Order: sequence, then structure tokens, then C-alpha cells
Amino acid sequence: MRATVTWTGMAVLLAMMMSVSVSAESSVTLTVRLYNTSGIPTPQLLAARRAAESILRSTELDVRFRQCGRRISPDQPVDPCDEPLTPSEVVVRVIDASAFNATLQPDVYGTSYVVRETNHGWLATVFSDRIARAATRVRVDPGTLLGRVMAHEVGHLLLGTGYHGQAGVMRADWPDALLNLDSEEWHFSMIEVTRMHRVLAAITRGPLANETAHRSTSDRFDPLPD
Ligand SMILES: [Zn+2]
Repeated sequence: MRATVTWTGMAVLLAMMMSVSVSAESSVTLTVRLYNTSGIPTPQLLAARRAAESILRSTELDVRFRQCGRRISPDQPVDPCDEPLTPSEVVVRVIDASAFNATLQPDVYGTSYVVRETNHGWLATVFSDRIARAATRVRVDPGTLLGRVMAHEVGHLLLGTGYHGQAGVMRADWPDALLNLDSEEWHFSMIEVTRMHRVLAAITRGPLANETAHRSTSDRFDPLPD
């Protein structure tokens, strides 16, 4: 555990040191279109959004969330999000796993669809029912945990389907024993930050419209071996 804390602290420090160069590389905005398809309560959705925004913005990426389809609060207008996606936009759907795919393996918290040829994508799905149950088990705020899974899946959209880190938000395994780690343990590494900036800069220049072949990754958060 101590080694993990030290690694994360160094990663954050180095990421801060690199922020000038990586910011210069990708000054475009990453927009996340968020759909609350499962209809989770607004406070939970807002908490998820805050958690995901915090993690994603710690990369120095310019990240903007759009609440699509449903009114998030009385003073915010509904955003229909009905215009075509631009290359720097991604979609995150909040769905109950049971409504998504009855054959989904029971330990999957989220999934992302990644274009085979380019190894990045635009569509991520997070399973609110499973995440809420896990949050209850480990006594973590369900919105916060949902936001961490969102950030993980958005990470796949930029870092690729097969990528996982040794620690931080891109760790492959999310056993219950790790779910209540402090917020500072849920960040991208320096290497991930650099790659995310490069990919985002590249896809805004590339022919995204020609990307049709997709593959998906389903994140199985298996318990770590003893
Ligand atoms: Zn993953």
C-alpha cells in the first residue's frame, strides 16, 4: 500500500511538471456527453460527474461534460445533444447491467467500444446497478464510485482497449478491498496523461468518420489473488 501511495504522489508531481508541454500538445476540449439512461437520482449523477471531472481534469485535459437527454436540475435546461459527434466528443451511458445484456459477466462494472484500427473510441457504458451494490458493500458513496468507473472507461477510449495500469484509475482489478481508497489513489499516471494528450490531439486531426470497425473491452474487476 505504501509503495502505491508513493507512486501515485510521484505521478501527480511529474504530471504537474509536464503540464506545460502536454497542454501545448492538445489544447482541444474533450467533451463527454453523459446519458442517465438508468435514471439514477440527480444527486448521485452529480456526484459521479464531479468525481469523473476531477479525475479527468487532473490530467490537464480540458474536459467538459454535457448532461444529455434528461433534466439534471430545475435551473438547467435539457441538452438534446442531437448534433453529430465531433472527433473530440465521447459518449458515456449510465445503464443498469440487467437492461444492457443479460449474459454480461457478473463482475463487469463498465465497458467501452474501441475502434480496432486506431485503438481509441467514443462510446463507454457504466453499469449503475452493479456499481451501487458494490458501493453499498464497501460503504463508498455510489456516485463517487460511478464517477471513477466513468473516468476509467473514458481512459480506455483514449488509451485503448487492452491498456491497464499497475495502479491508479486505470488499474485492471477493482476488488472490494480497493474500492474505498482515498481520492488521490484514483488518478491517471504520468505515462497515461502523456498518451491521452497525444491521442486527443491526433484524433482531432484524423478521419474519425471512417472508423467503423469496433471492438469492445469489458472491465472485469476480479478480486486480486491473495
Ligand atoms: Zn479497464
